[in-house]
Amino acid sequence: MKTLDQFDIAGRSAFVTGAASGIGLAYAECMAEAGARVTLTDVDAEGAQRETKRLVDEGYEVRWEACDVTDLDQVAAAIDAHVHAYGGLDICFANAGLDVGNGFWSPENKRNPDGQIDVYDKWRWDKSIDINLTGCFHTVREAARAMKANTDRRGGSIVITSSNAAEVNEAIVGVPYMAAKAGVKHFMRHAAYELAAYGIRVNAIAPGPFVTNIGDGWVKKNPAAKKAWDDLVPVGRMAETYQIKPLALLLASDAGSYMTGAHVMIDGGMQLGPIKPL
Ligand code: NAD
Repeated sequence: MKTLDQFDIAGRSAFVTGAASGIGLAYAECMAEAGARVTLTDVDAEGAQRETKRLVDEGYEVRWEACDVTDLDQVAAAIDAHVHAYGGLDICFANAGLDVGNGFWSPENKRNPDGQIDVYDKWRWDKSIDINLTGCFHTVREAARAMKANTDRRGGSIVITSSNAAEVNEAIVGVPYMAAKAGVKHFMRHAAYELAAYGIRVNAIAPGPFVTNIGDGWVKKNPAAKKAWDDLVPVGRMAETYQIKPLALLLASDAGSYMTGAHVMIDGGMQLGPIKPL
């Protein structure tokens, strides 16, 4: 098969959580641009509706659902509605997540007293695990159910958004975020192992710092925070969300047909260590 033909996803359908903003929105755009029919879902229904309308106006076949990934029933209902609308599920991005903040290190306050383990807010721990880890489980659970039902079809591809914080100690994010994403990484590896027999591939994209609305968009609002992040990255800058699209298409399409269980870093070299010691 020719190289570019392997990236062809025209006519397939893709479901994206956390698609109203940032990396999830880039995944949804990427899938639509490559010819897939897409459901954008988000707890921010207004945002999902706004971005869906924009993509429809640009000529793409997309729809939206309100969906909070911490609620299994909502995830199941949104995936059922996707299957009903598009006749099956081929590609799922389990992407929704957030950093509840309070890292050990911050640009303004090098050793953040509130970020230390012995005083760490329990609500931040619970919320971070609930959205980043349990929300991922809910999405993969329901995607696997729908993809197993693709009897006349060709399995499927599940792509989870992890983080470089799953592997490196990134003291600028909160400790529960690191723990949740490390859990996501290992959960992905088991899901890939179990679902391979059904022709369902499961991989994770592990971004380094991307300019998005994560952390209430603090790098967009605060040039000093953006500069601090840029200075930590070996390639010298944070990434823009369009830079994740080629990797998303690789994993979603048949171009990635021999990839499963991979935790793929896209981090400007952060895994090699910060350019400047913390
Ligand atoms: P973002 O804030 O721009 O987008 C996250 C989206 O998820 C938002 O639209 C938000 O409304 C939605 N969301 C939040 N809680 C939700 C819930 N309970 N149910 C459904 N949707 C919910 O942030 P982003 O940076 O694009 O984050 C996307 C993913 O990328 C997350 O999993 C995040 O952990 C991961 N990530 C981001 C970075 C980065 O630097 N931006 C780095 C590594 C990993």
